[in-house]
Amino acid sequence: MDVQTQRLHRRLFPATRLVFARPVAEVLYEIQGGRCLYCPGSTPLRTPGTGQVDHFVPWSRFSNDAFENLVLVHPSCNGSKNDRSASGQHTEAWAELYGPRMERAVQLSDEGVFTGDPSRTFGLLRTSYDLLPEGFPLWDGRKAAPNPFDEGQREQLDAAVVHIASLLP
Ligand SMILES: [Zn+2]
Repeated sequence: MDVQTQRLHRRLFPATRLVFARPVAEVLYEIQGGRCLYCPGSTPLRTPGTGQVDHFVPWSRFSNDAFENLVLVHPSCNGSKNDRSASGQHTEAWAELYGPRMERAVQLSDEGVFTGDPSRTFGLLRTSYDLLPEGFPLWDGRKAAPNPFDEGQREQLDAAVVHIASLLP
């Protein structure tokens, strides 16, 4: 990209999102055992750099850069989820690792790398699901059809909420 194109690019796409520092991907890689949060059964990511950092609760809905809201995923999974809300199974997987994420967020804040805000992140998750109308299509994976928000989904989401609530101070 030449300088003029760069300028045009910056004007058209202003940098409103954070570009995540490498340590964030590395810490997420470690917490997730090298696996993509959205397809844990698949081959692990080769290195932290081969994954992409995604906002679990979509950034376009609530701009929350707190560490608890970040997950490491395949670029293809990230592209497929885009700004959609994840289904119950993914929310449970995310909630399961909320404890380790909270711990590391404290450390990362101390080191000035990143900030955490576990209560706010949790509040935004609840709000985003409280606002869902019945039947709303939830993203269920790169190769899966969207899952309508129904009783089964609500149960999984509630289980995730209860789990996270039990971890908060
Ligand atoms: Zn994936």
